[in-house]
Amino acid sequence: MRVGAGSGRLPAPGPARVLVVEDEPRLAALLADYLRAAGHEPECVADGAGVLAIWQARRHDLVLLDLMLPGRDGLALCRDLRACSAVPIVMLTARADEADRLAGLEGGADDYITKNPFSPREVVARVNAVLRRSRAVAAVALPPLQVDEAGLAARWQGRLLELTPIEFRLLRVLSAQPGRVYPRAQLLEHLHGDGRAVTERAVDSHVKNLRRKLEQAGAGSQRIRTLYGVGYCYEA
Ligand code: CA
Repeated sequence: MRVGAGSGRLPAPGPARVLVVEDEPRLAALLADYLRAAGHEPECVADGAGVLAIWQARRHDLVLLDLMLPGRDGLALCRDLRACSAVPIVMLTARADEADRLAGLEGGADDYITKNPFSPREVVARVNAVLRRSRAVAAVALPPLQVDEAGLAARWQGRLLELTPIEFRLLRVLSAQPGRVYPRAQLLEHLHGDGRAVTERAVDSHVKNLRRKLEQAGAGSQRIRTLYGVGYCYEA
């Protein structure tokens, strides 16, 4: 069986971390398998009550949300998420007429899929379509690098960069003034914020890790330039 069929010849949208909120263990496992086979990273939750806190802690790229859930139902969760973010949401419902009704309510979901008949391939195709769309919108509307000071999080074209606190501070400093060259000693001052000793040699290894993470997110390998004997510089 070809996983992801139905997405036609469109390119895959790139890996995404998907929060799967589904209380039927068999369905949740099946969805997770198909998402993984399509290159995504699923995380399953069976109860609606903790969903908002889990999403806020981990900031998944997309939420696949069942309508009928113990703890807190899908529609309420959809509103909770919408109140604090623009994360793409795909809702799963038991019946087709329910999907129509939900779409009419404009709860803020990006798409609605019927579980009867259940087609995990269709779900993956819709997830990919929503990701492609939302990433295209993000790419047009915003500069590619988003540094969220309050959330201590950084994203490249909507994709969360999994940074350590030091890497985050390094990126924040460098990207604040693209093109400006920062000597290592100056970067050290910024990184000393938590009182821990950081050596100039350690700056190099943090830059190396940061550069690798940016590259993995699609930012290219030259986003942070090395000026030998001088320091580092962020290229916008
Ligand atoms: Ca359910």
